[in-house]
Amino acid sequence: MQIIKKLLSIFEKKDHKTLAMLLFLMVVAAFFEMVGIGLIMPIISVMSDPGVIESSKYYGLAYEVLNANSVNDFVIKISTILVGFLIFKNIYLTAIGFYQSYFTARKEAETSTKLLKGYITMPYENYISRNSSDLIRNINQETNQLFMQVLNSMLILIAEAFIALTLFLLLLVSYPAATIASTALAGLAAFVFIYFVKKPLKTLGEERIESRARMLEWATQGLHGLKELVVAEKTNYFVEAFGKKAHKTAKAQGFSEAMARIPRLYIETVAVLMLVAVILVITKTEDNMIQALSLFGMVMFRILPSINRIATCATRIRFYGPALNAIVADLKHDHFDATSSEDLTFKKSLEVKNVHYKYPDSDRSILNGLSLTVQKGESISIKGPSGAGKSTLLDMMLGLLEPVKGSVKSDGVSIQKNIKDWRSHLSYLPQFVYLINDSIRANVAFGVNDADIDDEKVMEALKKAELTDLIQSLPEGIESQIGDVSGKLSGGQRQRIGIARALYHDRDILFLDEATASLDHDTEMRICKTLKSLTPEVTLISVSHRQALLDIADNVYTIESGKVIKKG
Ligand code: ADP
Repeated sequence: MQIIKKLLSIFEKKDHKTLAMLLFLMVVAAFFEMVGIGLIMPIISVMSDPGVIESSKYYGLAYEVLNANSVNDFVIKISTILVGFLIFKNIYLTAIGFYQSYFTARKEAETSTKLLKGYITMPYENYISRNSSDLIRNINQETNQLFMQVLNSMLILIAEAFIALTLFLLLLVSYPAATIASTALAGLAAFVFIYFVKKPLKTLGEERIESRARMLEWATQGLHGLKELVVAEKTNYFVEAFGKKAHKTAKAQGFSEAMARIPRLYIETVAVLMLVAVILVITKTEDNMIQALSLFGMVMFRILPSINRIATCATRIRFYGPALNAIVADLKHDHFDATSSEDLTFKKSLEVKNVHYKYPDSDRSILNGLSLTVQKGESISIKGPSGAGKSTLLDMMLGLLEPVKGSVKSDGVSIQKNIKDWRSHLSYLPQFVYLINDSIRANVAFGVNDADIDDEKVMEALKKAELTDLIQSLPEGIESQIGDVSGKLSGGQRQRIGIARALYHDRDILFLDEATASLDHDTEMRICKTLKSLTPEVTLISVSHRQALLDIADNVYTIESGKVIKKG
């Protein structure tokens, strides 16, 4: 029940109706299958004993209604109906199959998109405590498992349980004693089965989801760090680490599939026992043994596969349950839509006042009453020993982290009051600018739809970032794909694309996080000259230990143990 509630929480209200409809159609489908089997019975009875047409009033009626003129004619007519019905039933099943697949596929796409949105918009503090491989796994694989395995199994399970229950009631009304005896036996068998597989399945399921994430982790680490791996001759280490996790995942999956197949074999065994129980009870209680046995036989014919499917589905739901847990927990993140309560401007200054900060998962205070003020148009630099809290301070000014105590205000208004507005003033250049796999043009106009890109502005930004020569040397100019030219781009050129990006978006403040740290001295000097030329239109706030960046700063703040210890 808990699992159904969780599953439903993934769906919106309108989907609940679709789900109910789908379930209804599936129950009807299962009934059609039963009717299909039911239609075979009269053919067999009439062929084995044509006398039933005389002795049974139902057969007599059917004979009349079908306007049959001989037993042969009767059989042919019923067979024709059977074939017609089977064709109809199979078309119906195919249609439902499409409907169900379409619905689950659409919901799967919606859910993974919603998950990604949740991850991207979740508070940065939450993001840094998560492992990105887990997030990618959830978006990429677990959403798929959730829909293909958990949801589909759940729908099949409910529909089949409905059929099994109906058949059970039919038997119970007709032959209570025999039904109770055989059901008690089946119940006991089911209990024993569940008792033994429940725990291993859960453990295996948890193992699978965990090792899936680690597989991703090793694969990305290995591929991202390829150069170092190859040179250090450590490729084997990564391949082996990945292989171990891949084996663990496959083992868990294979084992659970084998367990999902146990029910069929188990049920076959139990069915024989049930039949013996039925015979034993019936010989004592019933006169018309043949009739009773044929009813039991017919029902068994349908109910056993049904029970088999229920058990298989239950096994899958249990095994893939961790996917459901992971996704339901993360979908709750989809709430961080920044609210805009006050207009936020940056006309005068940015003021960091007596700020304290401690990371959620640590006891140590990183910023301890830090204060500094940046005037519009100014260029400031923050330096200090590693671990002093420089990046943390930058993240705070970017509005990614919120002070535990103290405030960060722009023109006197806390930036947290309207974080969206605040971000519209900023751009950020890290040590290695993040280039997307697209054209130079798209990388400059980062995040703007292709049709909305202002090419003139792109060229202007590239000019200010002093990239005109590079663009002219490329046969395809600004349309050149990063993938094609990235090997030819120098570190300085990459950083310049980042600067052009900041300029294209007309941002007031450019944050530089060790943005020149990976460049050689000459390139760094040239970049710093470019940066200096951007002031005072652009306010520069940099974290750096490099002299060149400190030289272009109007004010240098030295911080240590989360405090400004020197200004100037
Ligand atoms: P700096 O940029 O001056 O080298 P940082 O701001 O990166 O310093 O880090 C300051 C301190 O905060 C360091 O001691 C670091 O270990 C700690 N720290 C950084 N990020 C986290 C985090 N996500 N969780 C806990 N502690 C962190």
